Amino acid sequence: MVGSHHVGMLQLHGPLWARSEGLRCGEISFDSPDQNVKCVRMLDTTYSGEIGTKKKVKRLLSFQRYFHASRLLRGIVPQASLHLLDEDYLGQARHMLSKVGMWNFDIFLFDRLTNGNSLVTLLCHLFNSHGLIHHFHLDMVKLHQFLVLVQEDYHSQNPYHNAVHAADVTQAMHCYLKEPKLASVLTPMDIMLGLLAAAAHDVDHPGVNQPFLIKTKHHLASLYQNVSVLENHHWRSTIGMLRESRLLAHLPKEVTQDIEQQLGALILATDINRQNEFLSRLKAHLHNHDLRLEDSEHKHFMLQIALKCADICNPCRIWDMSKQWSERVCEEFYRQGDLERTFELEISPLCNQQKDTIPSIQIGFMTYIVEPLFEEWAHFTGDSPLSENMLCHLRKNKAKWRGLLHKQHSKSSDHSGQMTDTDGNPSQTSKEGEVP
Ligand SMILES: [Zn+2]
Repeated sequence: MVGSHHVGMLQLHGPLWARSEGLRCGEISFDSPDQNVKCVRMLDTTYSGEIGTKKKVKRLLSFQRYFHASRLLRGIVPQASLHLLDEDYLGQARHMLSKVGMWNFDIFLFDRLTNGNSLVTLLCHLFNSHGLIHHFHLDMVKLHQFLVLVQEDYHSQNPYHNAVHAADVTQAMHCYLKEPKLASVLTPMDIMLGLLAAAAHDVDHPGVNQPFLIKTKHHLASLYQNVSVLENHHWRSTIGMLRESRLLAHLPKEVTQDIEQQLGALILATDINRQNEFLSRLKAHLHNHDLRLEDSEHKHFMLQIALKCADICNPCRIWDMSKQWSERVCEEFYRQGDLERTFELEISPLCNQQKDTIPSIQIGFMTYIVEPLFEEWAHFTGDSPLSENMLCHLRKNKAKWRGLLHKQHSKSSDHSGQMTDTDGNPSQTSKEGEVP
């Protein structure tokens, strides 16, 4: 743990920020005054209007970054926001970071305190506190630029799959990496891979699912031949940004190639369609007592499991946060359903607001996806305090959703004398536990 790596603090605001689309996060810390010069130079080269064809081609796969690039080409610069931040907010955000390993960390509050820069701020902090900047001789400016690219590639208009979800998953991943069972075998490389994969695992998510991309013949679906379409895109986008930022360019080629492959293995593991494959293998290992974490293949399998847990840990958070995430993910489903209705496509499972209520979606998700995975995770961690805490929240939250579901049922049966949904159709919510 390297907590005192910062030597100097520099805050950038004013015209410099106004010119830079990328760097609008809180602060950057520098090891030497020379790097201040480097920072300005890098900003100049990056944003000197040279965002031309080469860059556009590089970014072609991205929905959002292409838009940013064209916006810059048209001379429209985003509003500089950093200098509007109250010093108080930054102080509070800094205070929150001192408790970043707590399970009740409030990522929504942290995002507000950092003015929407939770992902960049969190990752800068974690890279520093895990000693990764020192260990890998990373350039703080390049790290910051890479993280800004990642954060900006998330779609802030998505209710769920946005940069706050990525920050939330990264914070959970940080907690899991500290589990004694895992922490004792992890190298700095494993920690860096875990954090990078968590931060970028949903980058450029369009807010619709794979079946939607397939049925609308989206170019990504044909590019990845209908297999883990989104996850492949998240991974390839991450690689593109890593190369563009040159964050790891000083490392030997075989090392960067290995990092790119490992990131792929981690991000692709978050495909929910592969849940059974991972769960069965985990169960078999735990049942046979044959997990050998000193074996790098087994260790990376557990990193994949940790990331999968982090990705779906919302129901294991305290009720207030868990509920917010549930509402957000359902809102995203319903928006897809509305799109499908507009284009006269078949409405996907869970995407019909009239039939698929939030409590029923959540109970199904918890029963069939979250509980089985977290029970095995608890088994792996040896029922650690964190695992116990998460399972306790999971049980309490499920009971709350059940209570809300019964309320809905009795409300609708009060109105019509039978179990109906809001549309007056026989209730779908009685199919409690439907697999999402
Ligand atoms: Zn995710």
